[in-house]
Amino acid sequence: MTLDCIIHGGCVVTMEGPGTGVIPRGAVGIKAQKIAAVGEEEEVLSRYTAHRYIPAKGKAVLPGFVNVHMHTGDAIVRSCAQDIPGKIWRFKGILPLLGVAGEEDFLAASRLNIMEAIRSGITTFGDYYSPMARMVENHVKLGTRAVVSGMVNELPPDVSVVEVDQLIPLEPAVGEKKLSDNRKLVEQYHQSFGGRITCRYGPHSAAMCSKEMLEEIKRLADQADVGLFIHLVQTKEEITQTELRTGMRPVALLDSLGYLNRKLLAAHMTYASMEEVKKVAQSGASLALCATSISIVRGALPPAQEFASFGGRVGLGTDQVCNGTNMFDEMKYASMIHKYKNHDATMMPSWKILRMATIEAADALGMADEIGSLREGKKADLLVMDLSAPHMNPIYERPIRNLIPNLVYTARGHEVESVMVDGKWIMEDRQILTGDEKETIKEVNQAADRIAGELGKLPWAKELPLVQWTREGYY
Ligand SMILES: [Zn+2]
Repeated sequence: MTLDCIIHGGCVVTMEGPGTGVIPRGAVGIKAQKIAAVGEEEEVLSRYTAHRYIPAKGKAVLPGFVNVHMHTGDAIVRSCAQDIPGKIWRFKGILPLLGVAGEEDFLAASRLNIMEAIRSGITTFGDYYSPMARMVENHVKLGTRAVVSGMVNELPPDVSVVEVDQLIPLEPAVGEKKLSDNRKLVEQYHQSFGGRITCRYGPHSAAMCSKEMLEEIKRLADQADVGLFIHLVQTKEEITQTELRTGMRPVALLDSLGYLNRKLLAAHMTYASMEEVKKVAQSGASLALCATSISIVRGALPPAQEFASFGGRVGLGTDQVCNGTNMFDEMKYASMIHKYKNHDATMMPSWKILRMATIEAADALGMADEIGSLREGKKADLLVMDLSAPHMNPIYERPIRNLIPNLVYTARGHEVESVMVDGKWIMEDRQILTGDEKETIKEVNQAADRIAGELGKLPWAKELPLVQWTREGYY
């Protein structure tokens, strides 16, 4: 059989088996959208011919990273709501800026964030945003694999009316519009573009939707046979708000509504009790661990280790864009913060973290049969990394191999040279082939000027922490 291409002679990290499945002199063959061959270089080259041969000596070939939880449109307010108390982060930090941004701004920011992510080898995006109807087209055009949902909440459009210690006044009309958008998204895009784009429903959190809204979302998700994203026990305020509104804590409420099962991917669970962590893990639902985001925004570490110890599936996510969208940063930090918190260097070893960025992340999204490892028959989503930089050397192969710790603790992301999704190169030799980065950077800076201008006109914006610190010369 003649393949489209064979990448050969590099170290192939298949992520098959219980660990990382390294083949030191390996080859990967691709035909159409799929992986057609994986194995020792000699064997693959003797069995197959190809239209294109890509020598990869001195390089590593890995499955593309799977980022289970992110909000690409939030790149428009990158680093505009950090270093402030977690309690006011949403209503006095990020939402006032997002409130004066427009859909075109979110769309440009999403393009920027997707291209930024491609540069560190992210090929699958769990992208959760409102509005998503046009944002999904960014994934279509940039060639990325995406699991998209709306972010349905009933928050008042004017967040200046929200007092953080009081029950948030929900606005059903806002929720109905967002739910209608999410429904249209599912109807139009689920399983489109050869399965490259799939859809979910995305209630924002148990505190930001009424019980009736959560019920309706669940009903629609069941009807369409699609999964759900949700932020779960993300904040202490979420617990208080949900209790005030329904008399139940978020996990108990979702359990009563039938949410806790294999189709749910819950983000964070930072303030869940151990019983709640166990309940969700054992229900079959998955957890998104966004270690950098939750550290920056809350100064906390979600209970991912505990969730995994109860048999739950955990995938890594970069979440909102305060931390950059780089899976190498995410892996390194997720491992290190567990070691630090537990005073135990054995926690979250590099091989496990790499699994949580690939095959286990794919499993968390219910896609482990299609992506997340390099295996014959799977979708051809992969990355090629150059190992020649000083910080990636020396290379040991036996009796010890240092590649996996090097990838997690030492690599920085710019070693990723080329990225393929569905058998098509979307980045080659560090050039994004599917989008215009320079133009997008120009667009987001024009948008930032506009947003800053609008923010400056709001009388109450003067009191926002970052506005004050900028005025006082700290920023
Ligand atoms: Zn999030």
